[in-house]
Order: sequence, then structure tokens, then C-alpha cells
Amino acid sequence: MPRVCTVCVHPDREAIDAALVGGIAVPALSREYGLSEDALTRHRSRHLPAAMLKARAANEATLAADLLAKVAALEADAKRLGAQAEKAGDLRTALGAVRELVRIVELLAKLRGELDERPQVNILVSAQWQNIRRTLLVALEPYPQARAAVSESLLELELAT
Ligand SMILES: [Zn+2]
Repeated sequence: MPRVCTVCVHPDREAIDAALVGGIAVPALSREYGLSEDALTRHRSRHLPAAMLKARAANEATLAADLLAKVAALEADAKRLGAQAEKAGDLRTALGAVRELVRIVELLAKLRGELDERPQVNILVSAQWQNIRRTLLVALEPYPQARAAVSESLLELELAT
């Protein structure tokens, strides 16, 4: 039963798409444009990715890619600084870099989640996160103090979400 997507045929479709790409929440758009949240959510997951591939939406796609590239650069920085600090025996700074990486990984997952247009994913309960968490703690086994501190801040992070 093919139904016409009320978002696709909306006169402000481009603005709505841009807002969705920009991460504006569905309920806010629903109020602003008088569209149902269901229609917006459906449009976002089924039609928006295809629309983003079109040349007309090149700007939005570039924006999304830029954002991911920026976060990837941050990730590389944190890794590099962490390795430097570890080499210099500065565990406190190395630990800071690990914390930063945790945040970056979380941010990246959130961004990718947004771009995949899945409904809000809580990364902290995902299998991928559990894997990262385990890997971090195993890697820190030779440094019990650092491990305890990381473990504690991971718990904080998880409880705060
Ligand atoms: Zn649509």
C-alpha cells in the first residue's frame, strides 16, 4: 500500500531535510511544519538517505562528511597524544587521553547513529560499547591504578546517561 510521504511532497521539504540532517529533533519539526512525528521519522529513515545522495543535497552530505572527518581528526590527536604521554611515563596524561577517546568514540557513534537515522541509540548498552569497554580495561591491566580510574570514570559516564 504505497502512501504518499507528506514530508517528501511538503513545499518546505529542503528546509526540513536540512533540519533533520542538522539533528533538529522530530517533535520540534512536527510542531513547526505541522507534520506528524511518524511521517517525519519514516521520511528520515527511508527517504532522507537517498535524498542526501542527490547532487541537490550535496551540501548536506558534505556537511555530514566534514563533521565525521573532524571527529576522526580529534580521535587521531587523542591517540597520538596518549601514546606520547605513555611513552614519557606520564600516566595521568595518558589516562586523560583515554578518557577523551571514550568521549570521542561515543560522539562518533552518536553522529553515525544520527546519520544512519536510527532512533536514539544508547551506545553504552550496545555490544560494540561493551567490547570497547572490555578492550580498554584489558589494555590497562598492567596499570592497576589507571585501570581503576578508567573503570570509575566509565561507570560515571554510564550512570550519567
Ligand atoms: Zn519522504
